Amino acid sequence: MRYRIFPLTLWLVTSAAFAVTEPAIIPLPKSIERREGVCELIPGAIDPGADARPETKAIARFLADRLSERTRQNFHLKSNLDSVKAVELRLAQTQASPESYTLTVKPGHLINIEASDEAGLFYGAQTLLQLLPPDAKGSANLQLPSVQIQDQPRFQWRGLELDVARHFFSTDEVKRLLDEMAMYKLNTFHWHLVDDQGWRIEIKKYPKLTQLGAWRQNVGFGLDPKKATAFGPDGRYGGFYTQADIREVVAYATSRHINIVPEIEMPGHSSAALMAYPQFSCTGGPFTNDLPGGIFDGVFCAGNDGSFKFMEDVLAEVIDLFPGKFIHIGGDEVLTNNWKNCAKCQARMKQEGMHHEMELESYFIRRIEKFIDAHDRRLIGWSEIREGGLAQDAAIMDWAGGAIEAASSGHDVVMSPLKDCYFDHYQSKDIANEPHSIGGYLPLEQVYAFEPIPAKLAPEFRKHILGAQANLWTEYIPSFSHVQYMLFPRICAMAEVVWSPREARDWNSFSHRLEIHYKLFDQLGINYRHPSAPPQQASSAK
Ligand SMILES: [Zn+2]
Repeated sequence: MRYRIFPLTLWLVTSAAFAVTEPAIIPLPKSIERREGVCELIPGAIDPGADARPETKAIARFLADRLSERTRQNFHLKSNLDSVKAVELRLAQTQASPESYTLTVKPGHLINIEASDEAGLFYGAQTLLQLLPPDAKGSANLQLPSVQIQDQPRFQWRGLELDVARHFFSTDEVKRLLDEMAMYKLNTFHWHLVDDQGWRIEIKKYPKLTQLGAWRQNVGFGLDPKKATAFGPDGRYGGFYTQADIREVVAYATSRHINIVPEIEMPGHSSAALMAYPQFSCTGGPFTNDLPGGIFDGVFCAGNDGSFKFMEDVLAEVIDLFPGKFIHIGGDEVLTNNWKNCAKCQARMKQEGMHHEMELESYFIRRIEKFIDAHDRRLIGWSEIREGGLAQDAAIMDWAGGAIEAASSGHDVVMSPLKDCYFDHYQSKDIANEPHSIGGYLPLEQVYAFEPIPAKLAPEFRKHILGAQANLWTEYIPSFSHVQYMLFPRICAMAEVVWSPREARDWNSFSHRLEIHYKLFDQLGINYRHPSAPPQQASSAK
């Protein structure tokens, strides 16, 4: 007998001795069939198949490690001597999309994950891990519900942005975040590496960027230094990633099927860069990165060819470090006052026949875009970059409008509107009992109700909406524990928005499933906000 699980239903089936938790998978798979019986998970080998590629073996090893951690029993990559097989991973020649998979858990103990690509095997493994009870430690008999799951994502861009410029987060913290993203099948990490208050990526040709730009005298933003974590050995506040660190994080992300999109902000939000190299500004400086939140006049001079040479040198090193297609160049919130009063900028405008400084911004972006295109990468930038027109290949990250116009003119768009995707906003209206935030209000329900395809976008252009992402700006978030508190559980809602079929979205089902995930967060040591949290727990973010 087969029966379908309807999203509204959550069962607890108890057999004589063991409780089998019904599937509480987030994001909800495309199709899940609950079958009769239970499957006993017996510690043993994860079999990637004979002559498996190294990438497939890596997923088998990943699954073995996670199962061992979660159950405190011995799972391992299959060797020739193994007789007990716990899970089979199989690559199949199918037309299925690379991220899709089929997971079969049958009575007895055969568990099989099949996919056309390692990405699908990886997501099948993540789903299997969610079939374990939240606290599976030391259970002698692990029983899983018998299911057949067929799954594939709705969108190709399932993202999370982390601002490491306002406050710095270590390589280990970033890796932990990547693991947490992978649990929820997010595949794009947008790493906001530079801003007015910090430059966080080592650039060999311009060492002062990190020698000066990565450190502040103060924690800043009026925050209590005791709540902040990133202090250097000399007591200065901040930090940066060496190129070796970046390569390590990129490899880690790749092994979790996450692409990293680095963001190098220009021409505005550049006080930290210009503090180190003021010759590329209009005024010559001086600049400081000891700044509160806001928009400042740390803007590159668009009339100076040296500014472009500097940016291209920086981007050449960035492109060498990050293998993904997209390079984010920011482009938002540019103050053009300096350009009005700069002889070089005005000369450039005259030479190019421009009448307004906005055109100069467009010139800046187009010139950088040529460089990025020439290196076989694609430019993506915030809403503002489309104002002066763009090359066809450039993509927009819509935070402030413009998605419909951009998509209708053939540009790809990632949706990240301020109203629905800004996770630095408060999760509750009871702000006295929440950690201090930048403002705004974005409850879990609103994230869950977010629809990435704009209603007014004509059907023929919907393919240009690549997906969506949550943004975490960190002006008021000086520790990783606080990062987690702002992300969880809202990131689970975003994961379901970008992965699951639109018609399957059901708030009641989601909130029931989330109850199981809160227990999982407790097991994994993830700081989170429980919607019914008493005030003392809600304010526990350190
Ligand atoms: Zn200038």
